[in-house]
Amino acid sequence: MTQLERDIHNRLNEMKEIAQRTLKKAQVGISGYRNATALLAMNHEGVLSIFEGCNIELSTSTVIHGERMALFHAILHGFTRPIAIVLATEGKDPVPMCGYCRQDYMYINPQLQIYPLDKEGRIEGIYTLIDTLIKPYMSKGKIDHG
Ligand SMILES: [Zn+2]
Repeated sequence: MTQLERDIHNRLNEMKEIAQRTLKKAQVGISGYRNATALLAMNHEGVLSIFEGCNIELSTSTVIHGERMALFHAILHGFTRPIAIVLATEGKDPVPMCGYCRQDYMYINPQLQIYPLDKEGRIEGIYTLIDTLIKPYMSKGKIDHG
């Protein structure tokens, strides 16, 4: 196990708790289902931190998914390298990360580890982002890692 894999493993329970707690903050007037995430990300000094996100649906033109919110939240705080993400969906079996969100993460880290939670809050599986796309668009990300 690499140091990074150990770091992910050591933070998974905390990430699960954060994702499940953040479900309550989702605004779901359009889709009707709550989605929340906890993203483990690294800054340019190699420090890791966890950033939460949830879906916010103010209107059909301004829906933002929890995965993208967590990514932008991390970048805002200088944590520009997403490492692993836990996905929670209230009362449902895991809902996969949508293509729109996957592509944003693909620009930055195709090796992102994805941990969807089932409706009991257990990890349903572990997926590497690049393995979820058969023929990925691989343009270089536009992130300044500082
Ligand atoms: Zn999405």
